Amino acid sequence: MAVLDHIEFDTHETVAFCRDAASGLRAIIAVHDTRLGPALGGCRMLPYASEAEALTDVLRLSRGMSYKNALAGLPLGGGKSVIIGDPLRDKTPALMRAFGDFVERLGGAYITAEDSNTAPQDMAEIASRTRHVRNMGFGPEDNPSPVTALGVFYGIQVGLQVLGLPLSGIVVALEGLGKVGMDLAERLHQAGAKLIVSDTSASRVAEAVARFGAEAVAVGTAHRVPATVFAPCALGAGLNADTIPELGARMIAGAANNQLATPEDGARLHARGVLYCPDYVVNAGGVLGIPLPGETLTMPQRMERAAVILRTTREVLDHAHQAQIPTNVAADVLAERILQQGCRRVAA
Ligand code: NAD
Repeated sequence: MAVLDHIEFDTHETVAFCRDAASGLRAIIAVHDTRLGPALGGCRMLPYASEAEALTDVLRLSRGMSYKNALAGLPLGGGKSVIIGDPLRDKTPALMRAFGDFVERLGGAYITAEDSNTAPQDMAEIASRTRHVRNMGFGPEDNPSPVTALGVFYGIQVGLQVLGLPLSGIVVALEGLGKVGMDLAERLHQAGAKLIVSDTSASRVAEAVARFGAEAVAVGTAHRVPATVFAPCALGAGLNADTIPELGARMIAGAANNQLATPEDGARLHARGVLYCPDYVVNAGGVLGIPLPGETLTMPQRMERAAVILRTTREVLDHAHQAQIPTNVAADVLAERILQQGCRRVAA
């Protein structure tokens, strides 16, 4: 497996392959960029089909974290980690502690946090071996999802302003009614939007129908329904050469990471005249709400920080319009500029 020549390697500073025989840990930690500060990014655990698949995932995600943190105005770099294994079968306290030892060996270059299939208990195990962990609390204020949902809501508002449309009365097709999607659905419903929803969980769909009068559509079809906005809040890579020609919405803004299967899909959206609010710009609420070292933040203070997304989304969409480039390219250009020039604080 080629690593340094990997298509996603980009300018990664460090990629650490971690193996602990006693606990069975197999993990990869990717540190993309620390020019703005230590690389913050979550640790996810998945039963990847191969090490190559895990490597591709971690490299893409860590670069995305550099750009997300930079644009959000945080004094943090970008990194990510993946543990290869079935979270239900393979996750043990010893495995998480062994992972903590590897985080500690990086000396603070990488700060870990919760992500898919890792929980506060896992962060507590990691924290028994290293202090380079964030958002490890068990309180309601430690749940990043409401802040992420608010940020996505702001992103939708800005996109609609650019299109000259009100939120009230429009149709939003929402894929994924999980921790972020359900909260976003509630905000959109309260703002007067009509909802069309899909989820693999029938009970979540039933909840959205009952609470918000949403219309349910089959899994895998929400992107096709005629709507003003499509909000992907489930899985990544949903926008690709097959789905983009089928899109029924004029605008896309959602929480899912890595929504574009390839960067060229941003150009496909641009060519189709679909306004894409880049994923890492609008889903930065979770990371914005994490206290910086030495800070404690109440939930209202965390929610306040999401307002930065009103500014950053507008900046990206305006730059794309002026330069006549796809919005994903505009976001990358602005993030690269910040990485080169140093951190800037964004006033909400
Ligand atoms: P979650 O696991 O709570 O929710 C995901 C939902 O999507 C679940 O209800 C699941 O049943 C549903 N789903 C899975 N496959 C589906 C499919 N094919 N079609 C429709 N629905 C499907 O996750 P979450 O925390 O709500 O995060 C949603 C997305 O946003 C993820 O991609 C995540 O990486 C990203 N994200 C989350 C946060 C956060 O703060 N939670 C922050 C940034 C990005």
